[in-house]
Amino acid sequence: MTNTQQPIAVSSPPDHIFPTLTGTQLERMATLGRVRSVRRDEILVDEGQRQAPFFVVRTGEVSIVRPAAGGAALVAVLRSGQFTGELNMFSNRRAIMQIRVSADGEVIELDHAHVQSLVQGDAELSDVLMRAFILRRAELIANGLGDVVVVGSEHCAGTLRIREFLTRNGHPHAYIDLDRDAGAQELLDRFGVTFDEVPVLICRGQLVLRNPSNRDITDCLGLNDPLDTERIRDLVVVGAGPAGLAAAVYGASEGLDVLVLESGAPGGQAGSSSRIENYLGFPMGVSGQELTSNAFAQAQKFGAELQVATGGSRLVCADRKYAVDMAAGGRVQARAVIVATGAEYRKLSLPNLSKYEGTGVHYAATPIEAQVCGDEEVVVIGGGNSAGQAAVFLARRCPKVYVLVRSQGLAATMSRYLIRRIEDHPSIVVHSFTEVVTLDGNDALECVSWRNNRDGRTDVHRIKHVFVMTGATPNTRWLDGCVRLDEKGFVKTGPDLTAEELAAAGWPMSRAPYLLETSRPRVFAVGDVRGGNVKRVASAVGEGSIAVALVHQALKD
Ligand SMILES: Cc1cc2nc3c(=O)[nH]c(=O)nc-3n(C[C@H](O)[C@H](O)[C@H](O)COP(=O)(O)OP(=O)(O)OC[C@H]3O[C@@H](n4cnc5c(N)ncnc54)[C@H](O)[C@@H]3O)c2cc1C
Repeated sequence: MTNTQQPIAVSSPPDHIFPTLTGTQLERMATLGRVRSVRRDEILVDEGQRQAPFFVVRTGEVSIVRPAAGGAALVAVLRSGQFTGELNMFSNRRAIMQIRVSADGEVIELDHAHVQSLVQGDAELSDVLMRAFILRRAELIANGLGDVVVVGSEHCAGTLRIREFLTRNGHPHAYIDLDRDAGAQELLDRFGVTFDEVPVLICRGQLVLRNPSNRDITDCLGLNDPLDTERIRDLVVVGAGPAGLAAAVYGASEGLDVLVLESGAPGGQAGSSSRIENYLGFPMGVSGQELTSNAFAQAQKFGAELQVATGGSRLVCADRKYAVDMAAGGRVQARAVIVATGAEYRKLSLPNLSKYEGTGVHYAATPIEAQVCGDEEVVVIGGGNSAGQAAVFLARRCPKVYVLVRSQGLAATMSRYLIRRIEDHPSIVVHSFTEVVTLDGNDALECVSWRNNRDGRTDVHRIKHVFVMTGATPNTRWLDGCVRLDEKGFVKTGPDLTAEELAAAGWPMSRAPYLLETSRPRVFAVGDVRGGNVKRVASAVGEGSIAVALVHQALKD
């Protein structure tokens, strides 16, 4: 039945990933759950099952098995005191593994609701379970042990998009690179898969999707819960960057019925940061992906509902009854709304930019892009902290990193610690007063030229990868005129709104808007989308949490 007799090797300490509960912890579990006998070969959870129950082994043995073509692979064997489950225990996502009884015995079974109340009410068990669930998911990701295989090419924008979407959703996947695996290319040719249909995604061993959209992937993997559009939520948060995730964690933990809509994957701009070093409490730095995926798990632990690949397309604000229309269709209603849609990097004004976006022109510098660059020279455009971080990160791998800034230098825009690292790094070269003037190449980017605006000199370099990190424009189009914006399109809030602006917007309350409240009562804006924001993870998180306290107040008014 299994083609692997030994469990797959894990890199974290096994007693952290598969801890054994103490006798008293087992007793506490037993009071919440149902104790029952199980027989060898009984399937407790099947791969693909939603809302899989949680099991603790009292006696006997339970195996975690990964169904795979050509036989199943044994991942782990659980014995007395050990338990099943991983991060999708907190969501309604499908089980990635099968769990079957390998020796007769007794288990404690808990359903989803009981696991949720257990982790919220029992701090000790919450720690044990949370740590194990997060480490298990990390192991699955590290070993590519998922229910998805992506067959693609690093020269294809769709491949990068899909791998990033899966990674940022914390969904483990295996990757087959067509450029390195001639057999895979031959197979796709035989099935008539054209270049435009790459990448191919094999979803849950059943469906073959050709260059699917993020929404297609979400539907196939069941990343979203079925959405109840009849229920009026206390709070709809739009955007799941640091600000939106903080609002979700605080809102849900304080008893609000919270729904988060995210147009892409959770994490926002922070999720694309290779290392955040100035966030309180992380002296060694933390990757944006790690920080935001933990925040995502935390929001789910408290019961927030999160829909990915589900952008808000319009805020509906007539009659002071709020609703958000979704790009994929449908509408959700809310007593209060938190706008946390952040900002997007500005694009270069070059005519053929879009031809190279996703393959040669990048807006994030994560390990996925670094892998694609290999050992090539690269260009980073921009003088802010994100450009500095990208340059330092890429210089670990790339032989030369050119940092191009239009202004005199980095001092006015970049943190001192990053400037020092750039200055000290032998592979990073900064060109001031310089901008890219042309991008060239046939199918892929091959050549970049840049001009020094002081002496007019233009240099041409054989470079295949450009990282654009040049300031941001706010994601406010979907607000559809409902709230007052400043001259740059950011949302105005609290004391920034003048009496004239409030009168023009028809502000209906006798009180002034709360801090972070927009020109509509009970609609708040937080993080990078807000006028006057300071473009920091910490401030986005702070504003998300403050806004929740104000939502409570506004709902009482
Ligand atoms: C590469 C990089 C490195 C950085 N490094 C640091 C650092 O070291 N330290 C630091 O403090 N800050 C850093 N920053 C800045 C920091 O990441 C941002 O200030 C922070 O992410 C802002 O959070 P936010 O939630 O307000 O917005 P964002 O992070 O922009 O998140 C907004 C979210 O809303 C979603 N969205 C947009 N429109 C819609 C819609 N219509 N419907 C639904 N969802 C939508 C987006 O997909 C996104 O997920 C960095 C930024 C970048 C890009």
